[in-house]
Amino acid sequence: MSKQKLHFNSKTIHGGQQPDEAYGAVMPPIYQTSTYAQTTPGGHKGYEYSRSANPTRTALERSLASIENGTYGLAFASGLSAIDAVVKLLEPGDEVISTNDLYGGSYRLFRQVFEKFGIQFHFTGLQDLDVLESKITSKTKLIWVETPTNPMMNVVDISGVSELAKKNNILLAVDNTFATPYIQRPLDLGADIVMHSATKYLGGHSDVVVGALIVNDKKLAEQLYFIQNASGAVCGPMDSFLVLRGIKTLHVRMQRHCENGKEIAQYLKAHPKIEKVYWPGFEDHPNHEIAKKQMSDYGGMISFIPKGANYKDAIRIVEQLKVFTLAESLGGVESLAGHPASMTHASIPKEEREKSGVVDSLIRLSVGIEDARDLIADLEQALE
Ligand SMILES: *Cc1c(COP(=O)(O)O)cnc(C)c1O
Repeated sequence: MSKQKLHFNSKTIHGGQQPDEAYGAVMPPIYQTSTYAQTTPGGHKGYEYSRSANPTRTALERSLASIENGTYGLAFASGLSAIDAVVKLLEPGDEVISTNDLYGGSYRLFRQVFEKFGIQFHFTGLQDLDVLESKITSKTKLIWVETPTNPMMNVVDISGVSELAKKNNILLAVDNTFATPYIQRPLDLGADIVMHSATKYLGGHSDVVVGALIVNDKKLAEQLYFIQNASGAVCGPMDSFLVLRGIKTLHVRMQRHCENGKEIAQYLKAHPKIEKVYWPGFEDHPNHEIAKKQMSDYGGMISFIPKGANYKDAIRIVEQLKVFTLAESLGGVESLAGHPASMTHASIPKEEREKSGVVDSLIRLSVGIEDARDLIADLEQALE
């Protein structure tokens, strides 16, 4: 049976992988080397310098391509350096359309680094395809989608956006960090580029910072590889190994993240002290129909607003949590809680942030894979 034909839960373990040729090692060795011996100038075994390529990174890149149903994978030093490489496909004068509750770091990169090079960014609610269409001009070269969005859990119709992008000859990139390919596979839905902060669910253990791009088109892969090698933000061999190890249990972890996420979302929704819960699995979530269509489950990311709370109350609640750790980031085995207004989204101006719903009292949870009863008991004591 061809390994490319495997089901997802086998691809996480075997996709793009073979035992090491030298000694048959089942896990790819950590090739902690910068350079490779040549027999004659240019006479090498496919590797000459580790910025250009490294065998451990190659093993990770093949795994990434496999789990996203793509052809080419590229592993970067961080999620943001992967996004940076995509924007470098553009030229001064080009325009980008993206969602208005974008990950704060992506927003900062777009506005504070790339705008000064003459690239323009427009932010809008991509849930409404008519609004998106009205923003497209002849200069639009890239649509940058996050779905579900961070932290408001809006869901964007990837197929719908892809139709508009194709009709107007625009590249479509999807940040798939929140959903992971366990839940949704954007290339199958018409995206050109899938991006990951592998720091989150793919790595899964909060022990590494890594980014990824996955594409199907050969020419696009070559352009991105050129930028990656020219700019140099590559994923190191040790980090490649750690993410590969993480991916092997992705499906098992995600199943539990989703189960726990559902339990906690329902618990919060029924809680008298809670005003609002954002989670795409609720039938009354404004984009639930799209979510049901393009996602196979709803993940472990939840945001909520306690009743009558202000900035200080929200901070007091996250400080009271004991099983949930107060920390940036998400997607690890341990549950984390965060306060977007002062943490992940502090780099977005208050006015801008509140327009998209990231109010001062919003709390975001990354539900881990602990026993859900302990997580609920922890929330219960903190809400008191
Ligand atoms: C964390 C994150 C990023 C940035 O990735 P890093 O690995 O921290 O550079 C981008 N998008 C989303 C949705 C994220 O959560």
